[in-house]
Amino acid sequence: MLRSLLVILSALSAAAQVGGTFPQPLPSSTGSSYVVKAGRLIDPETGTAAANQMIAVKDGFITAVGSNIAVPQGAEVIDLSQYSVLPGLVDAHNHLALTYKKVPENDVYYYTYVQDSTALRAIQAASNGMQMLSSGFTVVRDLGNNGLYADTALRVAVEQGWLPGPTLINSGIIIGGMGGQFTLTPEMAKEHNIVYPEYLDADTPDEIIKAVRQNVLFGAKVIKLCVDCKPYPYSVEDMKLFIREAQNAGGLKVAGHVQTQEGARRAIEAGIWSIEHSGALTDELHKQMAAKGIWRVGTETPFTEYRGTQAAFDRTVAGMKSAYANGVKMAFSTDADYYVPGMTRGQVVINFLKSWKAAGIPDKEILKIMTTNGYKVSDIYDKRGPIKAGFPADFIAVKGDPLSDVDTLRSVSFVMKDGLVFKRDGVMTPEKFLHGGPINGWRIH
Ligand SMILES: [Zn+2]
Repeated sequence: MLRSLLVILSALSAAAQVGGTFPQPLPSSTGSSYVVKAGRLIDPETGTAAANQMIAVKDGFITAVGSNIAVPQGAEVIDLSQYSVLPGLVDAHNHLALTYKKVPENDVYYYTYVQDSTALRAIQAASNGMQMLSSGFTVVRDLGNNGLYADTALRVAVEQGWLPGPTLINSGIIIGGMGGQFTLTPEMAKEHNIVYPEYLDADTPDEIIKAVRQNVLFGAKVIKLCVDCKPYPYSVEDMKLFIREAQNAGGLKVAGHVQTQEGARRAIEAGIWSIEHSGALTDELHKQMAAKGIWRVGTETPFTEYRGTQAAFDRTVAGMKSAYANGVKMAFSTDADYYVPGMTRGQVVINFLKSWKAAGIPDKEILKIMTTNGYKVSDIYDKRGPIKAGFPADFIAVKGDPLSDVDTLRSVSFVMKDGLVFKRDGVMTPEKFLHGGPINGWRIH
């Protein structure tokens, strides 16, 4: 008995030591070797392109980039000479493990939460993740509403090597004042404890620390809080405590859902990393955000036949123009968490290009926001994303030139993730990602 306890303890401590491996390349790519010929290699950061480049990839990493690279013995040459090759895209605010629908729940996610188990939602997330990858999104910041850590389940499954998916920066459970974003009856809240696990109540400093630690313990890579979802918003001091504790727990960043001007003002004063959603942000608040370098993750929904109104869209676009003019750091983000019949999650997401174009932001700036800015707001810029030697081999290819026509991103022909081909000639090829066990190691958690 003691012996088995010791075995368990030593295994647990070994597991703890390898925490923080994320987001390194995955050893499941070991043995793979490619040279990709790019007709045009795009650098979104500088808004430039170089013709006829080659990218060498080995064991999941980019090993060389240049116009004339010797093809190593055994390397497969992938001819993308008719394509533009560019870094993978980022959705900085998605909910892969939540999909509410017109039927039966009339898009009311409170019902979805009662109907869909965490286990089912984790499988939905795996599917949504592949749909995102197919649309060129190699990184997704997943900000809660995932049941009992379905987001962590997907991240760990991808990192352990069970299946393909985007690199996930996941938040675990959204932390908020009592009730989260639900409007509840006393009996459901107090007798059935129905707020949890969709939200994690934290109303006092002790509860805030405990909530942050719970999420970190169960696999969060960013801390998400609801600043002002209830008439008792967090104070500046509360949010400073969130930031301090997240910093203490591995240097995680804090993302704040904001829906009122007062909430935004407090979040900015506290020095939060990112403000999620943009409905409350005014020109003056944008100026303050720019001055403090706070990210605007605006989740700007386009007006389409399936969503929104012209009036709401006009406000959204005016807000984007204000943010851009004030030099606010902006991220491409969607809040995608619903089903549109006939569309994949990736197609719902890429259709948000409509908003960015309506705001008059130049195509090459939009591309930078969808890539470079995405890696930065995800806090992985120095580890993953840019196409350069030593980095994980994540990139995509499209016909045409996204620097001058960002709508070319609507049709992604090729996707490489962690040095393996996920999509080729417009067809998903996930076989090499699928394994019957945790090929990258069971210790990833
Ligand atoms: Zn959201």
